[in-house]
Amino acid sequence: MSTEFKSVGVVGAGVMGAGVAQSLASGGIEVVLVDVAPAALERAMKDVRDGLRLQRMLTKRVVDVDAVLARIRRSTDLEALGAVDFVVENATERWSVKESIYRRLDAIAPAACCFAANTSAIPITRIGALTGRADRVVGMHFMNPVPMKPVVEVIRGFHTSPATLEVAKALLAAIGKEGIVVEDAPGFVSNRVLMLTINEAIFLVHEGVAEAADVDKIFKTCFGHKMGPLETADLIGLDTILLSIEVLHESFADSKYRPCPLLKKMVDAGLHGRKSGRGFYPYA
Ligand code: NAD
Repeated sequence: MSTEFKSVGVVGAGVMGAGVAQSLASGGIEVVLVDVAPAALERAMKDVRDGLRLQRMLTKRVVDVDAVLARIRRSTDLEALGAVDFVVENATERWSVKESIYRRLDAIAPAACCFAANTSAIPITRIGALTGRADRVVGMHFMNPVPMKPVVEVIRGFHTSPATLEVAKALLAAIGKEGIVVEDAPGFVSNRVLMLTINEAIFLVHEGVAEAADVDKIFKTCFGHKMGPLETADLIGLDTILLSIEVLHESFADSKYRPCPLLKKMVDAGLHGRKSGRGFYPYA
């Protein structure tokens, strides 16, 4: 399998897709960014532009913003992925969405192309089974914000081949990231712990034990965390948190993963965190 990446498909142009596209394009790779929503594609380009400017400011390195943006081609149709070397899928954390994407993608992408699923909790083995190339399907759990996080969980599905793991790690190395290989279990390593922590922190607010800002302050000052669990929830997106904890609840059939009613209420009310302008905190 080739570890040369001329062109990489990125499916889903939300919070994660924009970050993945930015990281790949910054690494000199041509990106084909696909989303069903034209507005998401527009917003992703704006987020990438803002992200690159921020990177330039923080690192004081020369970043040719226009050259990076020019490497990102946009489309609303998966058919645009007919000639890519690798696909990173970052669509909505809902089984029905992933299911239809992988079935179509399998028929569209070149036979040698590997698919990496960026999912918070959906088993990679289940995703691989949607395709005729389960050996070339791997998990890549990027952390948010993608351009600033140097480590990615690489998940080995039941049929994922050693060659596919090497290709995945090579792609990550090409964009300055390290892949840590873990086995396929719901939530992998990071989200099994993180989603439970966030959900429990929401229960504290729900039960009136403490205000959101105080919950976060305790984690930041006492444990040295850069962000508290509720700030992290706003950054990830409360809708994505709810979908992820529901996947864990269903996968383990364990009531410890039951979503907090306040989380459900906030999602119903459109309080999805930073991306919607309001979550546990307001955003300008
Ligand atoms: P998001 O809601 O910001 O974006 C999802 C995007 O997928 C939307 O733009 C939507 O239009 C698009 N989409 C829906 N159906 C599609 C289809 N059929 N074809 C193409 N695009 C489609 O979500 P996100 O936070 O970017 O999460 C994406 C994935 O990454 C999820 O599986 C999530 O669990 C995972 N993830 C999220 C985070 C995080 O911090 N947000 C971290 C790691 C992994």
